[in-house]
Amino acid sequence: MSTSEIGLIGLGTMGAMLAMNIAEKGFAISVFNRTTSKTDDFMALAAREPGDLASRLTPTKALEELVASIAKPRAIILMVPAGAAVDEQIAALRPLLDADDLIIDAGNANFHDTNRRAAEADAAGVPYLGIGVSGGEEGARHGPSIMGGGKKACWDRVSHILEAISAKYEGQPCATWMGEGGAGHFVKTVHNGIEYADMQLIAEGYGLLRDGLGMGAAECGKVFEAWNEGTLQSYLVEISGKVSQAIDPATGKPVLDIILDRAGQKGTGRWTVIESQQVGAPVPVIEAAVAARNMSAAVDTRKAGQDLFGAAPQALPEGAVTIEDLEAALIAGKIMCYAQGFALLDTAGATYGWSLPMPAIAEVWREGCIIRSSMLNDMASALREDPARNLMFAPYFADFMKKTHGALRKVVGASVAHGIPVPAMSAALGYFDTMRTARGTANMVQAQRDFFGAHSFERLDAEGAHHGPWGSHA
Ligand code: NAP
Repeated sequence: MSTSEIGLIGLGTMGAMLAMNIAEKGFAISVFNRTTSKTDDFMALAAREPGDLASRLTPTKALEELVASIAKPRAIILMVPAGAAVDEQIAALRPLLDADDLIIDAGNANFHDTNRRAAEADAAGVPYLGIGVSGGEEGARHGPSIMGGGKKACWDRVSHILEAISAKYEGQPCATWMGEGGAGHFVKTVHNGIEYADMQLIAEGYGLLRDGLGMGAAECGKVFEAWNEGTLQSYLVEISGKVSQAIDPATGKPVLDIILDRAGQKGTGRWTVIESQQVGAPVPVIEAAVAARNMSAAVDTRKAGQDLFGAAPQALPEGAVTIEDLEAALIAGKIMCYAQGFALLDTAGATYGWSLPMPAIAEVWREGCIIRSSMLNDMASALREDPARNLMFAPYFADFMKKTHGALRKVVGASVAHGIPVPAMSAALGYFDTMRTARGTANMVQAQRDFFGAHSFERLDAEGAHHGPWGSHA
């Protein structure tokens, strides 16, 4: 019987929670998983949920059965790993579907892939959506942030479901259509790039507390807790406080102290950096964060480095940096990171022909997603005033930068002097200083380029392209 309003393929971490969320909000949903035993496990888990959620779930053991159980015109969410799995799943599913049935890729696809799949769907005259979903397992279950991409008419077909399951900020759903093709997955990618940078800035703050000020993990946790009450209020600062204070039951030691300092990554930070280079919208704090994860992976090289050069004496002299300085430095770093992320979104939107709804992007990130924070509401206000203005020039954030860049400089200066690596904070300061220097040093670069390659340069005192008097030196 075709009774389900929607279907979902892929009952992994995200898919299972998303399916339960959809059922909980009152929508009948059919589910399918490649490993069919997982579908039984999922149904057993759903049966233990409060309410009658499980009664709206229809388990299926074959794609044909899944398709037959969904009311026409169908909508089916894919929640499988990005890449080949999505193409394989589309290839298996499409022949079973009618021409107006909608496939929705809700994984972390590379937006170039989503552009291609959307173009293929267009050519075949079938509907397709690529949506970014953020919030991890908890968000998927109780309210993620959703960034939609594809034809607006396709979004409108399922927006009532996506809005119902999304997080809410003061009653407003954190689910928005961002534009055609891969726009939703692009916004999700930049979200993740910002997430990398936010996490790295916090980790550098932790490093200063631990190595610079000599604090134990629990003490660091208390500092994060206090910061979470102020301007830095955010999910990431909140969980940093929690993970810092957790104790390993096996050893009785702080969990943080027994975790190997090697960070993993799945690619979205790297994609953000690659795309920023493609469109010429620099994101140096995000670049530093991605590079820091890569350097963290070189555990043996870092050990060899310490053996060869000795570890820097990282303890800071008494009073060199206060906890208030660190908090202000993190505020400045965070503003620089988001200014870069939003500038990338603005430039990429123009490059790829999307009218990205800049304030709405900040709005859907206010709840549900990993980078949710109180500052995002202020960013949404600033972007409503002027969607194309770099956030560091919005009066609200310019005031913050005026108040905090001194602390950022103090913290970076002390870190550099005492060998504490702070690549993301340094990148934030470098960006700030560069963006407030009217007369930079690229005149030297231009002179060098003209010298060795006759690339020409512009003059301050005359129009047009010029060459230097390099003569036989060239
Ligand atoms: P997961 O727990 O590893 O689950 C993957 C699911 O995809 C499983 O149900 C698996 O089925 C299925 N699958 C894998 N390869 C397949 C294939 N070739 N054909 C059909 N089904 C296949 O992954 P996840 O964490 O839920 O992530 C799913 C997507 O959401 C990814 O794109 C991920 O990047 C994205 N995402 C994840 C998070 C997160 O916090 N985890 C957050 C946002 C977005 P089997 O059971 O048969 O292996």
